[in-house]
Amino acid sequence: MVEHILAKTLLNTVPQPDTWFGLRYNMNLYRGCQHQCIYCDSRSACYQIADFSSIQVKVNAHELLEEELARKRVRGIIGTGSMNDPYMPVEKKYEQTGRALDLIARFRFSVHVMTKSDLVLRDIELLQRINQVFAAVSFSLSTADDHLAARLEPGASPPSERFAAMAELARAGILTGVSLMPILPFLEDSEENLGDILDQAASAGASYIIPSLGVTLRDRQREYYFRKLDELFPGISRRYRRFYGDQMYCDARNESLLQEFISERCDRLGLLQRFPTPQAKTIRQPLLF
Ligand code: SF4
Repeated sequence: MVEHILAKTLLNTVPQPDTWFGLRYNMNLYRGCQHQCIYCDSRSACYQIADFSSIQVKVNAHELLEEELARKRVRGIIGTGSMNDPYMPVEKKYEQTGRALDLIARFRFSVHVMTKSDLVLRDIELLQRINQVFAAVSFSLSTADDHLAARLEPGASPPSERFAAMAELARAGILTGVSLMPILPFLEDSEENLGDILDQAASAGASYIIPSLGVTLRDRQREYYFRKLDELFPGISRRYRRFYGDQMYCDARNESLLQEFISERCDRLGLLQRFPTPQAKTIRQPLLF
């Protein structure tokens, strides 16, 4: 179901410094997300989204953004993609993200887009305009395996399409990388999986990764995740309960060993292990695509 709503404000100020994503402001143009990742933390009760599968479109977002950008005295990176994916299928019709990028370019702000969709390529020219100041696109990837991703992230582009989009953005001179989170214990916390993601990202011209090895599970999101695990991967939820009990944050079981593995592989591949500051950006060129 898609519903129209009016928002009161659009840009949220992000507490500084934001060492994870480099943001000064954050915006959500929709509520709810069609990608329906089974691990999505946005289902947690604290975000007050009653039905995460029904999409609400903030139809006055463009007007609000124009007013708010005109008033902002402090420049900085505007992020989008934390509570929903700015390029989920409904964006094809509403173009909320495309229109927001046009305003960001006109007001000469910078942007950090986080997505699991290759629809971002539609806006490559807008991103190039913003990139006269600074633009980055992070692809969220927790597996490089299209079959596994189809079960975990049923509405998102397959990882192979995300890597191909990454390559096209890098060729266009846009800084791009991987948001390596979450990494699901018992399903994705292996050197083989992480190595595949890093190798393919480097080949596609990624410059950085933003790693967090584990998954957050709280209240109703935890219930939803365990229900989906029982449906898709019988026996795994029992292993979570035995290993983590009621813990809210479930680190990858062998987190420190995996972290060492990632550091060594990133050094070899020339991938930064943090989001680069605008001053530090260097664009790598894709090798394979
Ligand atoms: S794409 Fe992001 S916001 Fe959307 S369901 Fe997946 S994790 Fe949640």
